[in-house]
Amino acid sequence: MIKYSLVCDNDHEFESWFPGAEAYETQARRGFVECPVCQSKKVSKALMAPAVSTSRRRSSMRAAEASEAMAAAAAPSPTASPPVPAAPAPMALLDDKQREMRAMIRELHQKLTENSTDVGENFATEARAMHDGDTPTRSIHGKASFAEARALAEEGIPVLPLPSLPDERN
Ligand SMILES: [Zn+2]
Repeated sequence: MIKYSLVCDNDHEFESWFPGAEAYETQARRGFVECPVCQSKKVSKALMAPAVSTSRRRSSMRAAEASEAMAAAAAPSPTASPPVPAAPAPMALLDDKQREMRAMIRELHQKLTENSTDVGENFATEARAMHDGDTPTRSIHGKASFAEARALAEEGIPVLPLPSLPDERN
């Protein structure tokens, strides 16, 4: 079946189905094709064949849709962007060498603490007591504020800030 867009001699446009192109020619010649509005039998194919104009419109629409899609891909909508973390923490991407260093720090940390006593918050007091000879010297570690550590150092008490690892801070 073929659909033709037709026009009569009174400019009425209408569409009609035919079994084929030859069937249309035959029926039109014999006056079997008539205008549904004025019943005129002087009918011809409309100058603008619908198949052509439709496909043209479709292809231009497709082009517009494609450019829209491309624009959308180039500029993603805000909802498509990854969520921003509420509290960004300083981060560093470790390469192999840094990973190795990190392992060494961990080992050093372990060596410094494995044979020492954790005196916790009493570190400054304990360190000072040992330095003054009030308590026997032993290996200790614990917590001290920066001011305390500086005071100890000024008193000549050797203190070493323990390297801390990101996954040990909480
Ligand atoms: Zn007509």
